[in-house]
Amino acid sequence: MKILKFGGTSVGSAERMHSLAKLINDNAPKIVVLSAMSGTTNNLVEIGTALYAKENDKAKVLINDLDKKYQTVIKQLYSTDAALKKGQELLESHFSYLRSFTMDMFTINEERAILAQGELLSTALFHYYLEEIKIDSVLLPALNFMRIDENEEPDMKYIETNIKPELQKYPNAKLFITQGYICRNAFGEIDNLKRGGSDYTATIIGAAIQSEEIQIWTDIDGMHNNDPRVVDKTHPIAELSFDEAAELAYFGAKILHPTCILPAQMKNIPVRLLNTMQPEAKGTVISSKTTGDSIKAVAAKDGITAINIKSGRMLLAYGFLRAVFEIFERYKTPIDMITTSEVAVSLTIDNTKNLEAIRKELEEFCIIEVDTDLTIVCIVGSFAAEKQGYAFRIFDALKNIPIRMISYGGSENNVSILVDSKLKKDTLIALNKGLF
Ligand code: ADP
Ligand code: ASP
Ligand code: MG
Repeated sequence: MKILKFGGTSVGSAERMHSLAKLINDNAPKIVVLSAMSGTTNNLVEIGTALYAKENDKAKVLINDLDKKYQTVIKQLYSTDAALKKGQELLESHFSYLRSFTMDMFTINEERAILAQGELLSTALFHYYLEEIKIDSVLLPALNFMRIDENEEPDMKYIETNIKPELQKYPNAKLFITQGYICRNAFGEIDNLKRGGSDYTATIIGAAIQSEEIQIWTDIDGMHNNDPRVVDKTHPIAELSFDEAAELAYFGAKILHPTCILPAQMKNIPVRLLNTMQPEAKGTVISSKTTGDSIKAVAAKDGITAINIKSGRMLLAYGFLRAVFEIFERYKTPIDMITTSEVAVSLTIDNTKNLEAIRKELEEFCIIEVDTDLTIVCIVGSFAAEKQGYAFRIFDALKNIPIRMISYGGSENNVSILVDSKLKKDTLIALNKGLF
């Protein structure tokens, strides 16, 4: 059974849902994972923020606007009165749920429940449409099997044990529809897999049922060699290894959720990136196969903070790095890049929630400098295949860009550099010119 995930734009209007129904109607067994309609999760974030700030009037207006948007969608989506009525009842129940928060207590748990409404709506609306046009499908509630543990990692054991009986309830079904992004946490509360998390849902389900292929359908024809939002003249890459794709996703290629490659890689399931607007395009295949090419693609991750840690005691002092890393570990703050010299170590983080506490502890034995608004630019490929020359090509392309940090050697797939975020565009353009 294949997993097919469709992102926000692929279900972004009634018209797109009509095309989607045609695209998936081929009788092959599949689980279809849907995102919320494009824009909805952002709208829900705004609603949650207003409620959190006790701006209930503002929240009411935002909820009414979203309701109106969906009223228009259902009128265009359905052509029979019966389907339209079901759609109206669905909207009535979800929007009165949202409105109930303008009268009630509001905490972080309610905020997550609000964020879940987008995927609950898109899947149910699409399921009713399939019903209207007489295509059999089963709506699988993701909240019955998707779960994260206390470290916010997918609880693969739980998911495996719980999705199988859900599927077995319908031995003759060929088409399952389920929600991306949403899950329950270790306490059973509604939670989510972070923004862009529907990709992760698809690969987690793929791994849980040992699917033969996971397809991520979006609005572009595969992983491009550079960020198409920033650079002109990018092109799709036909093949990537799991390691290469994971680096690109983690370091900012928005087409994939940062950590969604791992579940597929663990079970060696190929991931295909495809374009709903251009279904015949080849897209990108991500698999265990490594291709011999050298430099394949570039991606950029913003919002990076660098911490420079200086200590007179560092040279020859074993245990120094352990003492530093333990602090980050205690505050559950992952480190992305590291470089060292004899007297200093520089490292980067993107989660600054506990930065002040980390800084205080580090200052007990080192001198700290913190730099914000930085961008990691990551150059990905199979560098072992081309042992000489690629470093020259990369840094030759970057000869006019001031570089704050360089990291290479951690894997054969990645050279990372750190630049001021203001220079991100120039850096990506320079690399495009020099490398591709
Ligand atoms: P979806 O809503 O389908 O999940 P996303 O917006 O999350 O879609 O991801 C697709 C978008 O990712 C593309 O429209 C493109 O602008 C952006 N993107 C950023 N970097 C890349 C890249 N290297 N290759 C392809 N798309 C990229
Ligand atoms: N709807 C969620 C978001 O906008 C999840 C996703 O689209 O993947 O982030
Ligand atoms: Mg996405």
